Amino acid sequence: MATDTLSPPPATDPAINLVDVVKYFDGAGTRDTAVVRGVDLSIGEGEFFSLLGPSGCGKTTTLRMIAGFEEPTSGQILLHGRDMVGVPPNQRDINMVFQSYALFPHLSVADNVAFGLRRKRVPKDEIRDRVEKILHTVELADKADRRPRQLSGGQQQRVALARALVNRPRALLLDEPLGALDLKLRQSMQLELKRIQREVGITFIYVTHDQAEALTMSDRIAVMNNGVVEQVASPREVYEKPATAFVAGFIGTSNLVGGRLSSVETDSGVVDFGDGQRVTVPLDAAHDVGASVELTVRPEKITLTTGPADTASRIRGTVREVVYLGTSTSYTVDTGPGVEMTVFQPNDGTALVFPDRGDTVWLSWATDHSYLLTTAPAPAASHADSVSLTSR
Ligand code: ATP
Repeated sequence: MATDTLSPPPATDPAINLVDVVKYFDGAGTRDTAVVRGVDLSIGEGEFFSLLGPSGCGKTTTLRMIAGFEEPTSGQILLHGRDMVGVPPNQRDINMVFQSYALFPHLSVADNVAFGLRRKRVPKDEIRDRVEKILHTVELADKADRRPRQLSGGQQQRVALARALVNRPRALLLDEPLGALDLKLRQSMQLELKRIQREVGITFIYVTHDQAEALTMSDRIAVMNNGVVEQVASPREVYEKPATAFVAGFIGTSNLVGGRLSSVETDSGVVDFGDGQRVTVPLDAAHDVGASVELTVRPEKITLTTGPADTASRIRGTVREVVYLGTSTSYTVDTGPGVEMTVFQPNDGTALVFPDRGDTVWLSWATDHSYLLTTAPAPAASHADSVSLTSR
């Protein structure tokens, strides 16, 4: 499945369905205090699907319910159409990979991978073939005789992956499997994991709090906040068209500016920010004239100029902060009382101006790079520090 299409549906028949799944741990809990609060998901066969969200939002609990280590308080989990309530983990045809590899230190790589098959009394020749093939897939065929301590962290994680994949599960669940690796290794393992998933063709459900990781690997991402799924979409769509203020703030940096819709045409409208500042936005849903709205636009979509640009989406401001970031420069621009917008200008020679603090500038963007948030539930108080938004 291409990762750059907007909101792709599951590639084929759903492999895994969650229907209104609720989980609370204390017996006296209610739906509102639950750690998972009515999650619906439909994950396609062969899809690389990520659950992304801040610590404590319920990702791991959701994954553990799919695996069978936890039972939902209510709702349904269907694996390939079969209701899983009461079915133990070892009968679900899925495997799980954790952050800690838990390899047997005294066994070779090949014996670690073969361990589960031996316990299931798979014939010796078949074990040898399957272990050889999967070590080849994870590019560790030449390390088959080594002990885990003779491998790097990334290689050990690949042994853990091979150990799960050799069972040929229909789905693999991965809970922050790269969390223990340093950044460089993590980045190369992300690409490696994606390649392996494509090669073996099975459904991966991947839990992470790292938005860059989810964007890199996933066919689709479910963004979770406070026990609720706020959006399910392709990486491109969650970045370019976040459904809620929380998603806009959690995935990258976003500007969120409140205003009033002062006029509405068929597919566009004008948002008035006060002080005579107004911009045109595309509209793809019905809105009432006079409604309070929140407009969002990504910092890298904005161009700075010294005079007003020839576009209907422009706003005037004063530069408050300038931070050099290497490939780009970040400007914090005051565009009205209490409103700061962030602008990234590339340092590749295409930026039109390099203003200083205190300079008056114009911010402009292609009209279809901004839009109004359709729903904007307030982020949970405990997660407020994950959200970096500017608002009027
Ligand atoms: P992290 O990224 O930190 O692992 P998460 O999004 O995976 O976070 P969960 O591990 O699913 O979050 O936890 C969600 C909430 O449920 C947390 O508040 C956690 O304290 C609570 N929780 C998880 N497991 C249990 C349990 N066995 N008993 C009671 N509360 C639990």
